[in-house]
Amino acid sequence: MKKELEFDVIVVGSGVGGATFTDYLLRKNPDLRIAIVESGPYRTKENFNQREIDMTAMYYNRGAVLTKNLQIGISAANTLGGSSAVYTGVSFRPPESVLKNWRHTFGMDFLTETFVNESLDEIEKEISVHELPESWDNDNNKLFRKGAEALGYPVKRLKINTKDCQQQGFCNLGCTTGAKQGTLEVQLPKVTQKGVRFFCNTKVISVEENKLNVVVSPTPEGTKVNNLKEGKHIFKAEKIVLAAGVLNTPAILLRSAKKLRINNKNIGRYITLHPAFNINGIQPEPIKNYRGFPKTVYSDHFSDTDDFYLETSFYFPGVTAKNNPGYGDLHQEIMKDYHKMMSILILAHDKAEYKNRITIDKKGNSIIDYTVSEKSKIALVKALQEATKIFFSAGCKKIMLPAAKHLPLTPTDENNIEELVSLKYLNLFKTPLSSAHPQGGARMGKDKTTAVCDQNGKVFGTRSIYISDASLFPTSVKVNPYETIMLLAKHVAEEIYEE
Ligand SMILES: Cc1cc2nc3c(=O)[nH]c(=O)nc-3n(C[C@H](O)[C@H](O)[C@H](O)COP(=O)(O)OP(=O)(O)OC[C@H]3O[C@@H](n4cnc5c(N)ncnc54)[C@H](O)[C@@H]3O)c2cc1C
Repeated sequence: MKKELEFDVIVVGSGVGGATFTDYLLRKNPDLRIAIVESGPYRTKENFNQREIDMTAMYYNRGAVLTKNLQIGISAANTLGGSSAVYTGVSFRPPESVLKNWRHTFGMDFLTETFVNESLDEIEKEISVHELPESWDNDNNKLFRKGAEALGYPVKRLKINTKDCQQQGFCNLGCTTGAKQGTLEVQLPKVTQKGVRFFCNTKVISVEENKLNVVVSPTPEGTKVNNLKEGKHIFKAEKIVLAAGVLNTPAILLRSAKKLRINNKNIGRYITLHPAFNINGIQPEPIKNYRGFPKTVYSDHFSDTDDFYLETSFYFPGVTAKNNPGYGDLHQEIMKDYHKMMSILILAHDKAEYKNRITIDKKGNSIIDYTVSEKSKIALVKALQEATKIFFSAGCKKIMLPAAKHLPLTPTDENNIEELVSLKYLNLFKTPLSSAHPQGGARMGKDKTTAVCDQNGKVFGTRSIYISDASLFPTSVKVNPYETIMLLAKHVAEEIYEE
C-alpha cells in the first residue's frame, strides 16, 4: 500500500452530497487530508459543447437507467460534479411537513427550525439561489401561467441557483459558462484550493473499515488524465464517507456487507423516485422557448390533495422525442411542431415502501427494483388531466399524453378530459415515465430496525463508514431535492468533526 493513498477522510462521489460534505468538514478543520474518489471522468465547462449526442455521455446509460421492470428510466450523472453537473438548479427548501415527519418518526432531532433556516440561508447565499426576473420567462412559462391562472390554479415563481446566467437553456447538458452554481463551480474549486486530492475514473467496488477497494478505468478522450495507474488499488482512511448517490451508495454497501459483517435488511430499501412525465401540447403558432430560462414557474396547487407538482420545462429535441408517446407518422408529425411546443413536467410524490429497493446482481451491479404503486398511478393520471386542462386553456390545438383513449387530443375533446384521460389507458410498459430525483436506500434514523445509518450518518454496525447523499432520505422530500441533500451533508460533516 502506497502512503500516498492514505488520508484522514475519503469521500466517495463528487456530487451534491460529497462535495458539500467536504466543504463543510474543511471549514471545521482545514488541516485534514481529504481525497475525493469519483467514478466519472474529470470534465469541466471547457468540455461541454451543448450537443445531446456528446453530452449525454455524462449520464449513466445516456440518461435512462431502467428499473428492473422497465417502467421508469432514471437520470443520474457519472462525471465530476455528479448530477449537479447536469441538474437544472431548481431550488426548494424541504417542506416543514416532511421535516416534522423526519423528526418525529425517524428521530432526526437536529432538524430544528433554527438549524434548518440558518443553514439554508447560508447555503442559498453561497450558491446564489434567487428568483429569476419575469423578463426571463420564455413563452412556455408565460403560457403555463396564463393557462393555469385562467383555471384558478395559483402559479408560483421558481428559485434557481445561477450567477451571471446567459439564458442559453442547456443546463442539462452541462453549463458552458459556469453560471450554474453546482459543485463544479462552487465547492470543488474551493476544496481544491485547500488541498483536497481528486481521483477520477476511480470506481469504488467495496468498502471495509478504514479501507476502500477501487478500480481505475481508462481516461475518456478529451478529459483530464488520471493520476493513478489503471487497475485495482486500495485506499485507506480514518473515516470513509459514501456519497455515490442513490443508484450506487446502497450497492456499495450491499457488495461490502459480508466483509463488514453487517446484516441490515434495510440496506437498499425504501427508495422513492418522484416519478415524472414530461408532456407536450402544440400551439397554433411558433413560440420562443429558446430564449429566457427553461423553467421559471410551477404550481403546488395539487400537492396536498392529489400528490403532485406541475413545473414548466423545456428539453432538447432528442429528449423531447423520447418523452412524446407513440411511434411512426403521428410521432413524426408532432416532432415537426417542436417550434410550437409547450411543455409541462409532472412530478408525483411517491411513498417510501420496503419493497422498493436497490439490489445487486451476481456481478455486484446495481439493480433498481421499483414498482409504481396504485396511489402513484392515480396521482399521475390526475396530473395528466389537470395538465391537459392547462394546455387547452393556454390555447393548444394538439396534446400528446401517455394515458389517453386516442392521440392527439384536440379542442373537441376538451369537455371529456376525465373520460379520455384515465387509469384504464395508462400502460406503464409503454410510457416514457422517468425520474431525476431518486431518494433513499440508506435511510437515516435512530432505530436500526428501520434505518441504515444513525442520525449522524454513521452506518449502523460500523466504526468508520458514513453516508452523505440523497440515499439518507427516510421518505420522499416531495420537492426537487438538492438543497435538502446539502442540509444533511452539512450536518454529517459537523458531526464527524465533533467526533
Ligand atoms: C437532469 C437532472 C436535472 C435535475 N434537476 C434538479 C433541479 O433542478 N433541482 C434539484 O433539486 N435537483 C435536481 N436534480 C437532482 C439532483 O441533481 C440530485 O438529487 C443530486 O445531485 C443527488 O446528489 P447525490 O450527492 O446524492 O448524488 P450525485 O450528485 O449524483 O453524486 C454521486 C456521485 O458519485 C459518483 N459515484 C457513483 N458510484 C461511484 C462509485 N462506485 N465510486 C466512486 N464514485 C461513484 C457519481 O459519478 C457521482 O459523481 C436533477 C437531476 C438530473 C439528473
